[in-house]
Amino acid sequence: MIEIENVTKIFRTKAGTVEALKDVSLKIEKGETYGVIGYSGAGKSTLVRCINFLETPDIGAVTIDGTRIEIDNEKLFLVKDGEKTRLSEKSLNKLRSSIGMIFQHFNLLDRSNVFDNIAYPLKYTGKSKKEIHDRVFELLELVGLESKVNAYPCELSGGQKQRVAIARALANNPKILLSDEATSALDPDATESILNLLKDLNKKLGVTIVVITHEMGVIKSICDRVAVMEKGKVVEEGRVYDIFSNP
Ligand code: ADP
Ligand code: ADP
Repeated sequence: MIEIENVTKIFRTKAGTVEALKDVSLKIEKGETYGVIGYSGAGKSTLVRCINFLETPDIGAVTIDGTRIEIDNEKLFLVKDGEKTRLSEKSLNKLRSSIGMIFQHFNLLDRSNVFDNIAYPLKYTGKSKKEIHDRVFELLELVGLESKVNAYPCELSGGQKQRVAIARALANNPKILLSDEATSALDPDATESILNLLKDLNKKLGVTIVVITHEMGVIKSICDRVAVMEKGKVVEEGRVYDIFSNP
């Protein structure tokens, strides 16, 4: 479902250069819940942001559900039947819309209510008002938040805000959901309920989930396989049970 090959990402700032990813390769299967763990600054966010091209690698290849993108000098090329062409903005947007993402601080629209937050990504898909309405209620049911449809983000708990963010991320039926420290701002109860929800969605919808975290508990509770990152490299990779079971 997701294959990352020899991806390198260097940030160049006034203060100097940071090699955030150093020749990273990994493969995530369809329907998996895959964890990426490591200390702050290890490169987890950068790696996962290369999956939906929020970051453009300097070099490497990223394949999403059969679509292979090669990156050369931060330029994106589509490779199809052995032919390499520059990736159009339209194709890039299509690829991006097949991937949902949730964040530590939810990134909701504070001036919009729950309905409008979830409807937001549906507005650019040519759906009718009725279709948008029905889809929003379907999503609210999926995340168990029908009663809050008219609430504003400031009226919700952290766990409820993350449910709204999850509903929004799933609005266009993505095959992949990326989660960047989605439970790091939540108390233990809310964390458990969000992790259970992600597990449920993975089972019910078959969505492939990539979870970034610095917490072992998150990996152990929902991930099938895990990559351990250190200083821009994947230093260990495999089944959670094999990597974290202490003899
Ligand atoms: P993690 O998610 O594991 O905390 P990140 O991927 O956020 O790690 O960061 C990896 C390294 O890249 C860090 O040294 C970070 O400071 C640097 N970095 C991340 N984003 C940027 C950026 N936009 N500009 C400059 N450096 C960045
Ligand atoms: P988080 O740890 O929640 O992912 P960060 O504080 O690491 O958030 O990063 C927030 C934003 O700042 C990201 O867009 C990241 O790319 C950017 N960033 C991170 N480190 C640096 C850095 N050293 N210089 C510039 N931008 C950075």
